[in-house]
Amino acid sequence: MLYPWQESVWQGWQQLLAQGRMHHAILLVAPYGSGREALARYLAKTVLCQNGAAGAGGEPCGVCHSCKLFEAGTHPDFHVVAPLQEGKQIGVDAVRQCNRWAVETSQLGGERIILIDGADTMGEAAANALLKTLEEPPSGCQFILLASSLDNLLPTINSRCNKWRLAMPTEQDTKRWVEKQLMQTIKLETVRLNGSAPLATQQFIEQGQDIRYAKLLAAFAEFLRPPFIGLYDVAGLCTQEGHHSLKWLSYFLVDCLKWQQGATAHLVHSESLPLVEQAANAIAPMILLDQTRAANSLYQKLERHPGLNAELLIVEWLTGFMAQH
Ligand SMILES: [Zn+2]
Repeated sequence: MLYPWQESVWQGWQQLLAQGRMHHAILLVAPYGSGREALARYLAKTVLCQNGAAGAGGEPCGVCHSCKLFEAGTHPDFHVVAPLQEGKQIGVDAVRQCNRWAVETSQLGGERIILIDGADTMGEAAANALLKTLEEPPSGCQFILLASSLDNLLPTINSRCNKWRLAMPTEQDTKRWVEKQLMQTIKLETVRLNGSAPLATQQFIEQGQDIRYAKLLAAFAEFLRPPFIGLYDVAGLCTQEGHHSLKWLSYFLVDCLKWQQGATAHLVHSESLPLVEQAANAIAPMILLDQTRAANSLYQKLERHPGLNAELLIVEWLTGFMAQH
């Protein structure tokens, strides 16, 4: 299934398939919550379709043996590798398995497709192991790499792929699309917190993160006023929600900084302006700036090292607001 915002990338791929010019390694740069995996699977299904969907620049037929196996999730020539857990890397063993799949004979006599979801989580050893295969691609093997950004991808991998970027819809379009799915109105700030990625925004609401975040934000804004009451409440809510909540709070702090400079348009927290104003009036700009940086580096630290005592580190970070008063 394709989503409306995927049409232009899909049409580009259809053209290449029809002309027989599809590159052996496609790299799709798209955020989480953009439906990127569904798009990649649709490409794989099309290439594998035994009724010639790819050559005709068409859609998978849905009735051939290959399409049936694909829909059942048991296609023997379609392989997926992804991090075992959020925040984990794709290891070198998983990539070596990809390299073996790449040189195998196709079970159905067509192409073999290898999808690497989260290619930007490959460590250096894993990326180097993949590089050799991308440099000398075995015939009849199509790689599809998915990455959130190019920042964490080795340039050598990047340069051997045909790159595509999946643009997210405008904030208003995302808002309308999610509202239609959920049959309720939603806040613009929910869209902005999720980088305008429609599925991420929808999930944020469906999983109740919007309600929990509102609670966290209220506690945080309360804490930011001297005499700084409720430090452990904020730390507890943050820890329960997971370290990505630090990212949301850092967006809030950036909003406060913008407010202090009079730049009040386009704040992420467009529906929580009283809280932004209150915090902007209570905390000095230098502290806000330092604490925003500290929140971002703590987020990255917790992302890379899941074993750390998050609550303790978050308490430490929060005390930074009180230190210079
Ligand atoms: Zn088919």
